[in-house]
Amino acid sequence: MTVTGPFWRDQLTADERATLGRRDPDVAGARPDVLVVGGGILGVSTAAACVEADLGNVLLIETGRLGAGATGGATGLLIPEPHQWSDPEPFVDLERASLERWHDLEKALPDGVGLVELDWIGLAPHHSGFAAHQPPAVEWLNPTQVAQLIPGLARPMEGALIRRQARVNPLRAVARLAAGLPAVATGVAATSVTIQGDRIVTVGTSAGEITPGVVVFATGRPPVLDGLPLHIPSDRVKGHLLVTDPTDIRLPGIVAPLATPIEDGHLLAGGTFDLGDESPAVQPEVIESIMDGLAATLPALAGIGVSHQWCCFRPRHPDRRPVIDMVPGLANAWLTSGHFRTGILNAPVTAAVLSRWIHAGEPPVEAGTWSATRFTGH
Ligand SMILES: Cc1cc2nc3c(=O)[nH]c(=O)nc-3n(C[C@H](O)[C@H](O)[C@H](O)COP(=O)(O)OP(=O)(O)OC[C@H]3O[C@@H](n4cnc5c(N)ncnc54)[C@H](O)[C@@H]3O)c2cc1C
Repeated sequence: MTVTGPFWRDQLTADERATLGRRDPDVAGARPDVLVVGGGILGVSTAAACVEADLGNVLLIETGRLGAGATGGATGLLIPEPHQWSDPEPFVDLERASLERWHDLEKALPDGVGLVELDWIGLAPHHSGFAAHQPPAVEWLNPTQVAQLIPGLARPMEGALIRRQARVNPLRAVARLAAGLPAVATGVAATSVTIQGDRIVTVGTSAGEITPGVVVFATGRPPVLDGLPLHIPSDRVKGHLLVTDPTDIRLPGIVAPLATPIEDGHLLAGGTFDLGDESPAVQPEVIESIMDGLAATLPALAGIGVSHQWCCFRPRHPDRRPVIDMVPGLANAWLTSGHFRTGILNAPVTAAVLSRWIHAGEPPVEAGTWSATRFTGH
């Protein structure tokens, strides 16, 4: 029997599930120093960083439950180093810094964030991808070494091994971070803003009006709110994921592009890029093609059952890089959006950049690269 819905939810404790639906404060008439709009990994991490930086009363509002958007459906891999094949160096640097912050959070939170350290093994890598900035972390593996690590591959393959990458259950991480927040209101949507001069003075919501000191929008894609003149292009890219039934086949880490071993002998596979598919439904043929790919690479996986299958949408800007910036033209509003395929990884460093910026009033040096003005022109 296959469950259609993220595996992550079923791994949570009752307390963690309850945290994802928190609705504690009276939102109407609230006057928080910091209002965070959006309860995905970026919003929850930012609210937590603002609390840690002692920025006053912090209120987070979320239209659904925490983690209801891209966050709750993500793979949850925290793998900066392999992104050197695909991403520019400043972006990989941001990711590296963020993985370090995930480790800090794991130590700092009472029960950690559920970080699991794992090696990453890329099958049949393109050596040239690492030419410019070859990190000492990469170990090249010949087919014999790969076969020792992953017995039973359908054909001999070279590999690249990178140690000490990681993963999280993204919903557990959200629940653990949110447990420490002073004020969370799920089921509350921001609908409008009132602006006087260069400041947002009120935020209208489905539960009444809020008068914030500063606002951070972390709504996945840029927010569309009455009264907010913000035009940053974005779209979304669907992806499918599945978790297999438990198996005795033990993978030595994240094996790309095969699968990642997770709890209790399950394997996590997929992460497709289903361009143009706007349907929220799981497409059986995509799930089949993921399973066919598993069996073609590791024939022992042929015929294994699917425990969970789901899909979700990655928020994306045209250049596939996030925005981490002030809302253009406003002096008390910030925005982070378009984290595409690395928002889980990059949440802690983005949150740190935003909280430092709000505190100091000056943009931290990392922020320049991710400015909104690359789209708005001012
Ligand atoms: C298949 C797939 C696999 C992925 N794998 C990985 C991975 O391995 N590693 C990785 O780092 N990233 C991965 N990602 C990307 C990652 O999921 C996203 O980049 C990240 O979750 C974005 O987080 P967010 O908080 O910006 O957005 P979201 O999680 O979408 O959160 C935004 C929240 O804002 C709320 N909201 C929107 N508008 C309003 C409003 N007006 N008022 C109140 N609330 C509002 C929404 O309900 C939503 O909950 C993957 C994504 C997909 C789809």
